[in-house]
Amino acid sequence: MCSVYRGRFAPSPTGPLHFGSLVAAVASWIDARRHRGKWLVRIEDIDEPRTLPGADSLILGTLEAYGLEWDEEVVWQTHRHPLYAQAIEKLGDRCYPCACSRKEAGERYPGTCRNGVAAGRDARAIRLRVPDDMSFGDFILRRSDGLYAYQLVVVVDDADQRITHVVRGADLLDSTPPQVFLQQQLGVPTPGYTHLPIATNAAGEKLSKQTKAPAIPPAGDPAILLQAMHFLGLPAAPAGSCREILAATLSQLG
Ligand code: GLU
Repeated sequence: MCSVYRGRFAPSPTGPLHFGSLVAAVASWIDARRHRGKWLVRIEDIDEPRTLPGADSLILGTLEAYGLEWDEEVVWQTHRHPLYAQAIEKLGDRCYPCACSRKEAGERYPGTCRNGVAAGRDARAIRLRVPDDMSFGDFILRRSDGLYAYQLVVVVDDADQRITHVVRGADLLDSTPPQVFLQQQLGVPTPGYTHLPIATNAAGEKLSKQTKAPAIPPAGDPAILLQAMHFLGLPAAPAGSCREILAATLSQLG
């Protein structure tokens, strides 16, 4: 058993939890508990324009109702701006101001701002320099609207919360190499990563707010919890309350 295991669930409060987010929460909770580890919850509300007021407390209440109890205090990214600013400062001239729009930057940046912003252009974003032989290009750390980018905040938060194991959806797989690169640049440890299969709707689309995934009942529904476990290939637990189902699954996993 790894006694230092620290896992986390990091929902964005853009709406209520849906089946796909429950799958990610259950998988990371089970993994943490099986390792007698800690399981932390972090509210990823950095992208304030996308935040839905009240979604954070709804998500936390829903996690509790499904028996997914967390350790330590919940953190909100919007309370942590100084940490993100410090990280950019630490990166120094490994990052640079950039004036490119998303369209100009294309799929794989480096673009012209790498060698200096052209006269007359307004550089409000900050981008990290990435060696040309890596599979991803220079990426944004602070957006042109002044908000810190997901890649930066997730790396800073995982390091600050001493997360050792990240269990999350395979939709985030492409984010893992840039995050590992950024960890190396900041001199912080790289956690272990597990990426989970993505729950889809009948049209084969990932369940998300964009695809109008229905909310799971916030008061907890053991049948939906069992479905999430079945989706993950976990051993079938006898019917019971959500807490009983989780306990029975953990004891079966040994
Ligand atoms: N906040 C992200 C999401 O809701 C998850 C980030 C992560 O697990 O790294 O999709």
